[in-house]
Amino acid sequence: MPIATTGKVLVSGANGFLAVWVVRAFLENGYAVRGAVRSADKGVHLSKIFKEYGEKFEVVEVPDITKKGAFDEAVKGVDAIAHTASPYHFKADDPAELLEPAIKGTVGMLESARRCGTAVKRIVVTSSTAAVLHDEPTPQTFTEADWDDQAVETVQRDGRNASNVHKYRASKTLAERAAWDFTKTHGASLTWDLTVLNPPLILGPILHEVPSPSLLNTSALQIFVSGGGGCWVDVRDIALAHVLAVKKEAAGGERIVIGREAFWWQDWLDATPEAAKANLKYQKGKPGSQKDIIPPVSYDASKSVRILGMEYRDMEETARDVVSDYEERGW
Ligand code: NAP
Repeated sequence: MPIATTGKVLVSGANGFLAVWVVRAFLENGYAVRGAVRSADKGVHLSKIFKEYGEKFEVVEVPDITKKGAFDEAVKGVDAIAHTASPYHFKADDPAELLEPAIKGTVGMLESARRCGTAVKRIVVTSSTAAVLHDEPTPQTFTEADWDDQAVETVQRDGRNASNVHKYRASKTLAERAAWDFTKTHGASLTWDLTVLNPPLILGPILHEVPSPSLLNTSALQIFVSGGGGCWVDVRDIALAHVLAVKKEAAGGERIVIGREAFWWQDWLDATPEAAKANLKYQKGKPGSQKDIIPPVSYDASKSVRILGMEYRDMEETARDVVSDYEERGW
């Protein structure tokens, strides 16, 4: 497949925590960007922060991504697509609240690109390690060979009674499986190929519009104030991964875990002594108390280094930048 080293990229869900950084990364790398948002008001902040890029940044309205042909107009004339739009929250009662937009939005984007995106060469879908991990009794290191079919089975069995985390994980697994199935079904007739990125918890400073800290997105809301642990990646690194996934020919047809090591929440507090400052209202926890506990889930992200050449920020840098970002906002 020819690759898109220049040209215009459609970024869906452009006003989201991750997507605004994705838009910025493409613009900084010389691409023009068309950002898709649900309504015109969600594009106002974007137009303001990307003003310096003039005509290289434009906004398109796609009111309902679950509607047939929703992206037909948006894909016209773009060379690549980064599909990030998908609900990410743990509040759904009916699993369909997450599954429908995740699956229909993803398949709808691919279908619009197949029929109307004659210039499209590469589509990058933002999946998640939620589509990779599964619950195991002992600590595991997962790779791109793993699939979270367990969450799908749980949601199919328990419906509304499934845990909110399983509902979200099922939405990401089913959407990603649907994307790969789509490329298998339409195979040779496509002008583009697919890359899927699977990041764990995304943390970092924010660029999107957030009027108050309580309105932060699901991942950013957790930094410094949560319990437990997980795996993480800096939002600026996963944003750049979207650009590299469009640029690198070898990324075509690949599923790639993008992420850093596992952590316990105490590690974030230990990494950032200033996070404990009273005015930031962060907890101090018990410094060093979780150092020797083996995290239950980690990922092998070596493929991201091999294929995309990823270089990851460390926890100290991410934590420091989040603290100074929030301080500047008076939070
Ligand atoms: P976010 O800030 O909540 O942004 C989500 C974006 O998707 C927003 O633009 C939102 O539009 C759009 N969206 C959500 N539900 C939609 C629906 N039903 N119809 C149309 N658009 C909808 O989330 P994020 O953290 O940036 O996540 C972006 C992507 O990364 C998602 O695919 C998520 O699954 C994936 N991901 C996130 C993390 C993480 O830790 N943040 C980790 C792994 C993967 P509105 O603003 O109009 O609602």
